[in-house]
Amino acid sequence: MNEINLVHLYPEILNLYADRGNLLTLQHYTQKMGISLNIQNITISEQFPESCDLIFMGGGQDRDQEQVSHDLLRHKDVINHLVNGGIPVLAVCGGYQLFGKSYRTSKNKTLEGIGVFDCVSVANYNKKYTRFIGDILINASNEIGQLIGFENHAASTFLGSNAEPFGFIEKGFGNNGVDKTEGTMYKNAIGTYLHGPILPRNEKLTLFLIQKALEHKSKSLQKHINYHDLNVERAFKSGKKFANKKYSFMRRVK
Ligand code: GLN
Repeated sequence: MNEINLVHLYPEILNLYADRGNLLTLQHYTQKMGISLNIQNITISEQFPESCDLIFMGGGQDRDQEQVSHDLLRHKDVINHLVNGGIPVLAVCGGYQLFGKSYRTSKNKTLEGIGVFDCVSVANYNKKYTRFIGDILINASNEIGQLIGFENHAASTFLGSNAEPFGFIEKGFGNNGVDKTEGTMYKNAIGTYLHGPILPRNEKLTLFLIQKALEHKSKSLQKHINYHDLNVERAFKSGKKFANKKYSFMRRVK
């Protein structure tokens, strides 16, 4: 049986806006594909597991990020090594910021990131919006195509000259509300502001992560999904309609 070892970083601390739904979605898909998904929850002061094919880190408030940022630095080398070897990563919002070079919080405290991504994030940089809140629709820069989600962040993220955006904004704010970029992607590691949670609503991204995790084990998909069993494509369509129509509740500073 194919097997994927997923490392979930700080699950009890970084879990905003139903980010745990991402794990349930991966469980759902892998089960249908006959793949065994071993979820290894790693929290503060625990060791990084020997075997890892996929990393997930969710979002959190500034204080949650402060709580984990120092601990995450212990794993900086191993995570960068794995990412350079092609391991897939999904780091959402607060997780994305800490996978970058640094995050300056709303209290002006700079948290050092693990530098997987060439980007820096700064809270309350944009003077027009206190927070970037709302449904978001993006076009990924690769074959993953269109994605929908929900964003809620105070930080603006700026990509360095070596960084590729994960996608470009059709509706919403993304990295900073100005340059139309959303997230970043380095090798198979994805940093994104899309909560939602992102995976139940974006089937192609789920399959991408599973495929890359299996490739990391040098195995290819042996079974195909029976799409009729899944509600996910429908969830994407209705979410997209919602994102297009009701995009009116972004909070603006007067
Ligand atoms: N605290 C960060 C911000 O507001 C991350 C929030 C989140 O993970 N949704 O920018």
